[in-house]
Amino acid sequence: MRTILDLHLHSKYSRATSPQMQVDTLDLWARKKGINILATGDFTHPQYLRELKDKLIEDGSGLLHLKVVFRDSVPTTYNLLPTSFVLSGEIACIYKDKGQTRRLHLCVLAPDFATVDKINATLNKYGCNLKSDGRPIIGLSAKMLAEVCFEANENTLVIPAHAWTPWFAIFGSKSGYDSIEECYEELTPRIYAIETGLSSDPAMNWRLSQLDNITLLSNSDAHSPLNIGREANVFDMAERTYDEMAGIIKSKDKKKFLYTVEFYPQEGRYHVNGHAKCKFSCSPQDSKKKYQNICPVCKKELTLGVEHRVDDLADRALGFKPANAVPYRSLVPLHEIVAECLQQGKATKRAQALYEKMLAQKTEFAILLDLTREEIAAISNDLVAEAITRVREGNIVVKPGYDGEYGMVKVFNDAEIKKWIPKQRKLI
Ligand SMILES: [Zn+2]
Ligand SMILES: [Zn+2]
Repeated sequence: MRTILDLHLHSKYSRATSPQMQVDTLDLWARKKGINILATGDFTHPQYLRELKDKLIEDGSGLLHLKVVFRDSVPTTYNLLPTSFVLSGEIACIYKDKGQTRRLHLCVLAPDFATVDKINATLNKYGCNLKSDGRPIIGLSAKMLAEVCFEANENTLVIPAHAWTPWFAIFGSKSGYDSIEECYEELTPRIYAIETGLSSDPAMNWRLSQLDNITLLSNSDAHSPLNIGREANVFDMAERTYDEMAGIIKSKDKKKFLYTVEFYPQEGRYHVNGHAKCKFSCSPQDSKKKYQNICPVCKKELTLGVEHRVDDLADRALGFKPANAVPYRSLVPLHEIVAECLQQGKATKRAQALYEKMLAQKTEFAILLDLTREEIAAISNDLVAEAITRVREGNIVVKPGYDGEYGMVKVFNDAEIKKWIPKQRKLI
């Protein structure tokens, strides 16, 4: 059965995270969105872990479910199956290695509370302050952390998070490494996957032959319920157990790993090279060849984006696709599509009302992935149906972000949307 998994998010105990990020709300939102297996986030945090133990039950599958008493009363039309949770955490390792300061974020997935307790106990023994934040900062190396996790349980999965972000990632330009081997040495064969993160998509990663046998996962890293599933993995699973999930990640089995759901990476703030104050941006290729990485406006060095870093480490041209690559589908979150169609802010009452009206009838993933144009129009309007059709075809307007400026992803250009607005008023 098709199974949608989002394996990285944060609880309310992490910095800059919504107070709603707790398992009862997450269960509700996963059902609205159509996510089947969702990360708990933050299992290293003592208070959150207590809540997890209180509210979730282990059923022996390696996954957990919310106890019925904590389940929000949800209209029956929402996805009826309860959400399966997987115990997850993200840990920031800051340490010196090979003469440089390294800053890496690592996701850890564990099959049971006993494993989590062991990992946390060892980290406490090493003097790590797990109470400080839902995503704690520890002084162990990425490799030592992996050792701690595998010692607690050999079925634990350690996954370098958002692999390309400049500051906190395994391939980050500021404090990462040039290869998985350089970081994990003899433990490298036990690192089966990396998370491509919001700022890169699989096609960018396909340019590195060193990643051919690595599974590319996509997760939301959400800090609020609305954002869960903005990136996700779609598996074909028979049983929905932890072992089956881990097996698919380890084997990169294309028959079972159907595709990932991706954000447009151009929306990120550091996608291409540029200078915000000079209003100049360019591709890494142009930056190297035409401009020698110097801003043509102010003549200072350009801020280099994620694409540039990929280009530096890549040994293949843009457009190369390895034989065993898992495909992907680029989507735009439904609440963003709805807001654009209404020409309203995402948080406005009108945008939220239409979004919720749609979710009361079908899950977000069913709407974005499965429904026909006519079926979408029947639960919204013609413009939203047109917008989703265009998103599916990749027929949208994208302007990449650079030097801290967010990129822009829109379905319609300004002239088109003006034509639609008068027609649409009658429809809502
Ligand atoms: Zn992170
Ligand atoms: Zn400049």
